[in-house]
Amino acid sequence: MAKKVVVIGSGVGGAAAAALLAKEGHQITLLESHHFPGGRCASMGKEGFTYDFGVHMFSRGNKGPHGTVNRRVGGDLAWITRDPACHVMGRVEFDFRLNIRPLLRQFSVARQLGVRPKNYIGAFRLMRSLLSGRGVEKNDGVCLQDYVSRFTNDDMVHLFMNCLSQLYFALSYRQSSAGEFIWCFSRMFNEASFGYPLGGSGRIPGSFLQALERHGGEVRLREPVAHICIENGKVTGVETASGRYDAELVISDAGIVRTLDLAGRQQFPEEDVKRAEGLSYSNAYVTLKYALDRRVIPYPVVFHMPSLPPERVFDYVEEKRPPDDPYIFMPVPSNIDPNLAPSGRQLVVAGTAAPAGATPELCDAILDRVHTKVCELFPGFKDSIMWQLRSTRVDATALTDHLAGEAIGIGQTPGQVGALRPELVTPVSGLWLVGADAGSRGIGTEMASGSALNLIHRLGDGSGPEPIN
Ligand SMILES: Cc1cc2nc3c(=O)[nH]c(=O)nc-3n(C[C@H](O)[C@H](O)[C@H](O)COP(=O)(O)OP(=O)(O)OC[C@H]3O[C@@H](n4cnc5c(N)ncnc54)[C@H](O)[C@@H]3O)c2cc1C
Repeated sequence: MAKKVVVIGSGVGGAAAAALLAKEGHQITLLESHHFPGGRCASMGKEGFTYDFGVHMFSRGNKGPHGTVNRRVGGDLAWITRDPACHVMGRVEFDFRLNIRPLLRQFSVARQLGVRPKNYIGAFRLMRSLLSGRGVEKNDGVCLQDYVSRFTNDDMVHLFMNCLSQLYFALSYRQSSAGEFIWCFSRMFNEASFGYPLGGSGRIPGSFLQALERHGGEVRLREPVAHICIENGKVTGVETASGRYDAELVISDAGIVRTLDLAGRQQFPEEDVKRAEGLSYSNAYVTLKYALDRRVIPYPVVFHMPSLPPERVFDYVEEKRPPDDPYIFMPVPSNIDPNLAPSGRQLVVAGTAAPAGATPELCDAILDRVHTKVCELFPGFKDSIMWQLRSTRVDATALTDHLAGEAIGIGQTPGQVGALRPELVTPVSGLWLVGADAGSRGIGTEMASGSALNLIHRLGDGSGPEPIN
């Protein structure tokens, strides 16, 4: 039977859940605090450029949960995949191709990465194990560094895996879960559809919201929810400054701790509140957006691996200081979709990890190092800058109301993934979570879309295993 549903927040998780429920005939009102939709996956415009709030690329493109949601709701999301997907720079330099399944390709990557020949067998065994996708649950509680060390102690393999962990989870490989990494790596490289949406990252939540409206749902921007109303342990609606919205179901994309704040902690068992408050977060990401007056960088994405001992690359995050040599992830969105910049111009986004909760001064100091390194990597870059913008942890906090300003969500650490990830269902009847904090696996936005697919499954007859896909 059609239900009256309020969705709090238009991040990827909220937008996907709202569209999927509207498609099933429910009566949906989505309320968003800001004047623009999309949360951390929003895109903005300036002087003919369309840039993302994040440094976004999508590991599974059309084949992952974004594609599944889009097809189910009849959305118009279109994807672009480039191969070679990325140009690796730093201690070594080469073009990275997506299809690493053939042994010959793995041999070529090992050689280009500078793996020592005596370590080839260990590196191949690691690759085979990751690509197989087996052992996810068994390794959920193991940290990625320990997992990689079972196969090889090769410096370049460790450096690559540590940087990839920071890219996937905004966590170093000392912190991230090996099980979660196997899950993500096997899908990304077996599907080989790493890509970017036509029109910018904001098209992902944007196309879900358009589908929501086509299916009769309503989106209200600038409508922050101040309170989730609960009577006798059951949700009855929400309140905003402009009034009350009655609902049989409330689905919150505001994050687990903000949802507790909105509902009132007294509504939840003490142990649930304690657990939520004790959860740790991913790192923040700080980013530079550059508008260039000409095409300086020829690649779709640049992945800079620092020239530092592999296990020390992200010490700066733990020690809360600027990096000696920054790891940089640098999509060049206008090389993928030329419409994102005026003709002849180039849009470049460069980002790196920063501590969750980092001060504005520290964020700026980290970005200064990133800027210096980008200018060093690409001669002529500095002279071509028309304007640049910085986004820091502080902007992420303003966007999400999460104090940590984390890039991803609850950290994908041993103890916070798989069966131990916070659940979508809450102890309050009719109140559910969605988004990157709960109920799924994957990388950032894909975890958020995955959680929406799982939510729809749970709200249905609930039979069978959850469709984390
Ligand atoms: C710099 C950076 C780089 C990233 N790179 C990638 C990447 O390459 N690939 C990838 O897949 N992911 C990446 N991510 C992560 C990804 O963006 C997030 O994990 C994902 O977008 C989170 O989605 P969400 O559904 O949890 O919602 P959020 O993005 O957290 O959105 C929540 C929404 O809820 C709204 N809201 C909150 N409280 C209320 C309220 N009380 N009333 C009304 N509305 C409210 C907020 O305004 C917001 O719009 C990156 C993130 C950052 C910051």
